Amino acid sequence: VPADEPGNVAHAIFERFLHAGECREVLGCFGELCQQLGLQDSGLQLYHSLKAALNYWSAKALWSKLDKKAGHKVYDQGKACASTKCLVVGAGPCGLRAAIELALLGARVVLLEKRDSFSRNNVLHLWPFTIHDLRALGAKKFYGRFCTGMLDHISIRQLQLILLKVALLLGVEVHINVKFEGLVPPTRKAGGWQAVVQPSFPPLTHYQFDVLISAGGGKFVPEGFKRKETRGKLAIGITANFINRHSRAEVEVAEISGVARIYNQKFFQNLYNKTGIDLENIVYYKDDTHYFVMTAKKQSLLKKGVILQDKADIESLLSPENVNQDALLSYAKEAANFSTNYHLPELEFALNHRDLPDVDMFDFTCMTRSENAALVRDYNGARLLLGLVGDCLVEPFWPLGTGVARGFLAAFDAAWMVRRWAAGTPPLEVLAERESIYQHLSQTSPDNTNKNISQYSIDPATRYPNINLQAIKPSQVRDLYLVGIVEVDHKRKSDNRLITASGDVYEELLSWCQASTAGYRGVAVTNFTTSWTSGLALCALIHRFRPDLVDFDSVGTQDAIRIHQMMLDMAEQELGIQPVLSSIEMATMTEPDHLGLITYLSQFYEAFKTSPE
Ligand code: FAD
Repeated sequence: VPADEPGNVAHAIFERFLHAGECREVLGCFGELCQQLGLQDSGLQLYHSLKAALNYWSAKALWSKLDKKAGHKVYDQGKACASTKCLVVGAGPCGLRAAIELALLGARVVLLEKRDSFSRNNVLHLWPFTIHDLRALGAKKFYGRFCTGMLDHISIRQLQLILLKVALLLGVEVHINVKFEGLVPPTRKAGGWQAVVQPSFPPLTHYQFDVLISAGGGKFVPEGFKRKETRGKLAIGITANFINRHSRAEVEVAEISGVARIYNQKFFQNLYNKTGIDLENIVYYKDDTHYFVMTAKKQSLLKKGVILQDKADIESLLSPENVNQDALLSYAKEAANFSTNYHLPELEFALNHRDLPDVDMFDFTCMTRSENAALVRDYNGARLLLGLVGDCLVEPFWPLGTGVARGFLAAFDAAWMVRRWAAGTPPLEVLAERESIYQHLSQTSPDNTNKNISQYSIDPATRYPNINLQAIKPSQVRDLYLVGIVEVDHKRKSDNRLITASGDVYEELLSWCQASTAGYRGVAVTNFTTSWTSGLALCALIHRFRPDLVDFDSVGTQDAIRIHQMMLDMAEQELGIQPVLSSIEMATMTEPDHLGLITYLSQFYEAFKTSPE
């Protein structure tokens, strides 16, 4: 085939895309490829068009992997979420991994990343299922060294590159250099949720979505979620990356996959006696770099002059003014040399994205996690499902190497939740199921998750043995259904939720309830509290639209709690409307419960607003 034959040009671009080693280069090659092939499709359609256009042997091997993945029944041939629109925040490993699942489900997926490069040399530990998962996505095609030897780790940047390429091939729309700044509720009836982005440009600012997956890392959690802090004993982590020249001597040095202090006291004692370095643990992985992560004791950092002055609070203790950078470099290098028996040839620091030696010190004393994995916002009847994945959900303790595996599990769980949402499952049921699964995340390990990793899918039952998806009941998650505006009180960090129903939602629902219950004996709706306590208003509302279900005249003789219980049960069984408050709460309705009642009644409004009167 002549070299200038159009097919060949595309093949060459595709090969460049497969091997591109920088984020911008990947996106550049992909844009060029689509242009060369004249493709303007999006979503899975783009994948099918690429496949049809690039059917030479090397590309085919990748398509067959991805086809196998996409053919799994859980995706329903890309129809499971065909009318769902998602926004994913963050192109870290977990945001990308979630985006891939959503694309396979057939959703439209737009992904925003505030940076324009993948620069983290640090190396992540992989559990067997993550290795299997990445293989199935064709990792080896993008990164030849993947899966060679006894590999159970990968650098963060390589992982991001692999996942970015897969995401693009599956039609995810990726925008780098764009920061997500917040949500805009629908401005008019029948409008949708939009995002504030920086810099702001029209196609993105006009994008309306019904699902937001936040994967913005540990420091970024969208408003409405509560964070929980776990304060442990003082733990100072140090990471260091040295250049790997892949020489014979380097190849021969053994990795250290977590020498916990209690298991190898002699090693740490020798290290201390010889060097004055006092560690709790150390991990060494040979990857693109020689990567070390260790937890160091404060006293030894003070003694070795790494930390200049002892301070009570950890933030000031590790502040740049209080750290001697040169001493930190020597500390990390000495620890690296000792723990590899001085067998690594002259260690030279790899550079970080600021072109400085790649050494860093982190505080693991205080770890945060989100109290909940998801919530729903409802404004003017437009619902938005929000889910957290990755570090944004639970911050991992790096030396334990749990981060990305649990991050992937949560990405699968989030995708499953979106699938349930798209299938029309009632919101509180979706949220309750998500929370039931989230309860398990922090206890997961390779030992207590299903052994049959080749069967893993987004369906939680394939991964977690004996999981009870109904451990948490819909009535327990009603505070995760936020109606109206969420006001964030920045002064109160730990409990930043303050909800008010927006004026027009309130008024509209109230007048609809008034109109629907007008004329019923003993019913006068003027508010969302006392007007409902007798139970007759709810009974009237149901009777109005489904007179076949209740005999209004005969219920009046019963007590309020009983009437409520009957109505709640009936609405749930016959209309599929989940209770939000208990019958006792309904019968003794006070001001704090009124949002619960609004949430509950909104479901009737949704179900009957178009019914003839
Ligand atoms: P991240 O990888 O943190 O990705 C979040 C992404 O979201 C980032 O790319 C960020 O730029 C983007 N983002 C944030 N806010 C916005 C916004 N408003 N709009 C658009 N984009 C946004 N784990 C280990 O196990 N070992 C290590 O040595 C280690 N080193 C690390 C070093 C650093 C500097 C950091 C930040 C993390 C490190 N981690 C380490 C944690 C590890 O990277 C994560 O557990 C893993 O990458 C999964 O994270 P994630 O995808 O949830 O988030």
